[in-house]
Amino acid sequence: MRVDYIIVGQGLAGSLLYWELQKRNADVLVFDNLQFSKASDVAAGLVNPVVFRRMTKTWLIDELYPQLLKTYDELKKEFGIPLFYPLTIKKVLGEGEALFWKRKSIENELKEYINPTPVIEKLEYIYSPFGIGEVEKSGRIHIRELISKLREKLIKTDRFRDEVFDYDKLSFDDEHVNYKGISAKKIIFCEGHRASENPFFGEIHFKHTKGEVLRIKTENYQSSFILNKALFLMPEEKHFFRLGATYNWDDLTDTATNKAKEELQQKLSKIFNDKYEIVDQKAGIRPTTHDRRPVVGLHPNKPQTGILNGLGSKGTMLGPYFAKQFAKLLYGEINELHPEVRLERYFR
Ligand SMILES: Cc1cc2nc3c(=O)[nH]c(=O)nc-3n(C[C@H](O)[C@H](O)[C@H](O)COP(=O)(O)OP(=O)(O)OC[C@H]3O[C@@H](n4cnc5c(N)ncnc54)[C@H](O)[C@@H]3O)c2cc1C
Repeated sequence: MRVDYIIVGQGLAGSLLYWELQKRNADVLVFDNLQFSKASDVAAGLVNPVVFRRMTKTWLIDELYPQLLKTYDELKKEFGIPLFYPLTIKKVLGEGEALFWKRKSIENELKEYINPTPVIEKLEYIYSPFGIGEVEKSGRIHIRELISKLREKLIKTDRFRDEVFDYDKLSFDDEHVNYKGISAKKIIFCEGHRASENPFFGEIHFKHTKGEVLRIKTENYQSSFILNKALFLMPEEKHFFRLGATYNWDDLTDTATNKAKEELQQKLSKIFNDKYEIVDQKAGIRPTTHDRRPVVGLHPNKPQTGILNGLGSKGTMLGPYFAKQFAKLLYGEINELHPEVRLERYFR
């Protein structure tokens, strides 16, 4: 069997790269072990153009945002279902924070993304005596739906293999890679946190982060916005919300813990007073690099292999842009990638 590209891993990264490559008429074969847990299954899908801690723009957002609109719109047209749901983020401000919000909105040129004037608004079940900061150009991506639609497309054309990719069976010649009787021009690895086990990219300095989220059902509370205050409460269906997320750099198992559940519940109790029940809890590992930048490109010594990884906690925003950049590079439409994501930082 001969194909143009093999992609290993069909989380958000592999899915978006497949989308960009097939748009260029590439023949792509995707390997993904459906038994492995994936960050993309756990992620809430939040799009947030603002880093609240510092009140700055999310890195590269002026470029990321137009691309995410474009990509998710293309996918909406392809599959006939919306994947991006624009939703305002309402950030509950602490004492004295309203001034900081106003000042930083000017200093950091945030006006395109936030309402610079905090609002005093009485929201039922929410404790917000110091006002609320509003973020626009934010919302939710339905990641699981996106992956499952693209997988159906791959399966229909016999281009999906549900198996563990075995690195020992991969061989190289000058122009191709060969794997169990399949020959491809290039192989691109999109394995999420499991890239740490990839023998071809051992130089990359990953620093993965475990995260946990709860799904809750409220008794009365409903909303059409995302609530934020050192956590997010994101509406999914009527009365159902995703509450997240924790950050843990030490425990890198994908097991849900009581500690994370208690942490999220405790944070919520400070601003929210409706009754709710926890209907689900999930844990996953965010694939993160030491400098929190994605890692994208072809191996400097083995240019038949490449990687798209390190989307960290912002896969919904970084994924569309860097999948496109990578596809453009592979097709000679651009000569180089953004300097901060290049692999060369690990191969000096
Ligand atoms: C709790 C939590 C909340 C999050 N919330 C958000 C959010 O709100 N917004 C946001 O933008 N991001 C969020 N993220 C981050 C987001 O999930 C990631 O940025 C993104 O999903 C990473 O996608 P990926 O494809 O790189 O990795 P993954 O989704 O982990 O996919 C990797 C895939 O590779 C496959 N694979 C690996 N090795 C092999 C192998 N040898 N053989 C076959 N298959 C293999 C796995 O099966 C898997 O399907 C969150 C993450 C967590 C954990």
